[in-house]
Amino acid sequence: MSQENVDVVVIGAGHQGLVAATALAEKGLSVVVVERSDVAGGAIRSGELTLPGFTHDYWATNMGLFLGSPYFAKHGAELGALGLKFAHSSTPYASAFPNGKNLKVVQDGDATAAMWSAHNAGDAQGWAALGALFGDFAGSYFPMYGNPLPSKGTWQGARALWKARGKKGSGELLRILLSSTRALGDRYFETPEAKSLLAAWGMHLDYAPDITGGAVFPLLECFLDMANGMSIVEGGASNLVNAMVALLEKKGGKVLLGTDVARILVNEKGAFGVRLANGEQILAKRGVISTVVLPVMVNNLLESSDVPAHMKQAAAHYRFGPGTMMVHLATNGPIPWSDSELAKFAYVHVGPYVDDMARTYQQSLAGEIPDEPLLVVGQSSAVDPSRAPEGKAVVWIQVRTLPNIPKGSTWAAQSERVADQVVAKLEKYAPGFTDTILGRHVMSPADLQAANPNLVGGDSVAGSHQLDQFLMRPSLDLGKYATEIPRLYIAGAGTWPGAGANAISGGLAAARLLKG
Ligand SMILES: Cc1cc2nc3c(=O)[nH]c(=O)nc-3n(C[C@H](O)[C@H](O)[C@H](O)COP(=O)(O)OP(=O)(O)OC[C@H]3O[C@@H](n4cnc5c(N)ncnc54)[C@H](O)[C@@H]3O)c2cc1C
Repeated sequence: MSQENVDVVVIGAGHQGLVAATALAEKGLSVVVVERSDVAGGAIRSGELTLPGFTHDYWATNMGLFLGSPYFAKHGAELGALGLKFAHSSTPYASAFPNGKNLKVVQDGDATAAMWSAHNAGDAQGWAALGALFGDFAGSYFPMYGNPLPSKGTWQGARALWKARGKKGSGELLRILLSSTRALGDRYFETPEAKSLLAAWGMHLDYAPDITGGAVFPLLECFLDMANGMSIVEGGASNLVNAMVALLEKKGGKVLLGTDVARILVNEKGAFGVRLANGEQILAKRGVISTVVLPVMVNNLLESSDVPAHMKQAAAHYRFGPGTMMVHLATNGPIPWSDSELAKFAYVHVGPYVDDMARTYQQSLAGEIPDEPLLVVGQSSAVDPSRAPEGKAVVWIQVRTLPNIPKGSTWAAQSERVADQVVAKLEKYAPGFTDTILGRHVMSPADLQAANPNLVGGDSVAGSHQLDQFLMRPSLDLGKYATEIPRLYIAGAGTWPGAGANAISGGLAAARLLKG
């Protein structure tokens, strides 16, 4: 049995693992990232899934969070020198409706306001009021988002926000933060279209329209994407990962691909390395950072006798949300929307309405294939023309939400049928769409989990983000990246501040390890 010695082993070369390793390598520690897949990046990956010349982002595509991260602030120039470029859309998102109407949000705030006024004066007023609230909230929220939770930094941020807004203003903000997306829509908007536009953003996480706390994400995402537009990685999401790996290697770190960790090694002093599936060991003097979501780590990577009772309980209580399906299409040209202007938008949500989303979620939980699954239609080549041959297009469709396992059936039996349903639904909004399709690749919730053990049941966000599990992620006492096992640290989408290409928890876990 061969054996290697390093300071730190990081499990998982998703972007958070790479962020953690880079932070440690910069401090002069020897660090190795061990990744079971043959490709780095985890939920960030791209490739020619359908036909040669068509580059699809397999999973994550919107890089807004990454661009706002402390990692990017620090290393953006170095990543740029390593070839990383972003393609930008100033027409970030829209929602389309079966009555022929649609609501658009563009980076130009005045143009957005004019479109909303033309749609409905009350909605336009509500949009302006929510925008002002976002302005107040964002300045305090984002610094909190970059701190561990709980921590002095987050409490100080919350206190400063409360003081600045006064009791009355803070009361309104708190009410919004605790409300569902349906309640937020009913409070601020008049038409079903505007209410649906908000609710669709809640569905990206695990917030069906009637779930308390769901309003936070739409409040942030709606106005952040309006302020910044939407960006994807030029040439495909893997270009971001490749630049991150190259940066890590430049700083002395190492990535081992196609290498499955079978066990985290623990003795009376704590975690001291990992055993690989091939029997080899990597010993780590300073500890192990795992980006594997808590229940999978506890059940598969640790000896039961090494896990304290409370950590076992936290793992048992951790909840995953409904599944996601990806439908990737190569098409003969842009989607022929009834309103051709929609073809410019980075994302188009096709719900259509709040009640449809509520029913979709409920059906997913009950194991039924929803009759109106929400479609997030990403028009990758409209943002980055390099993704498809001249005149052709790449379409990224995320289907939210679906059952983890369809009742009485399997995803292998259902996935192509659901993809047909998706195409038929889009055909109603874009007559002739079906005939433009040149190639199709479908990834069911089961395929998501097979590709990445963090996506249990095809949950694209690696565990519910409902308020209890978002604010205490994965549990209150594991919220600061250290576990009850000395020298074993956790990071990734299953820790605060949750899923998304936010590049935060990896850095915070590395800082925690360095603190000792
Ligand atoms: C379909 C989909 C669409 C998304 N869209 C967006 C989007 O547009 N914008 C956005 O910001 N976010 C999006 N997300 C979320 C975002 O991509 C993820 O939350 C984020 O990339 C998670 O990063 P991570 O490093 O925490 O974990 P992961 O990327 O999941 O990486 C964990 C890695 O650990 C590896 N691993 C697990 N077990 C082992 C083991 N035993 N040994 C070795 N390696 C192991 C896995 O193979 C994986 O590579 C999307 C996610 C999905 C699935």
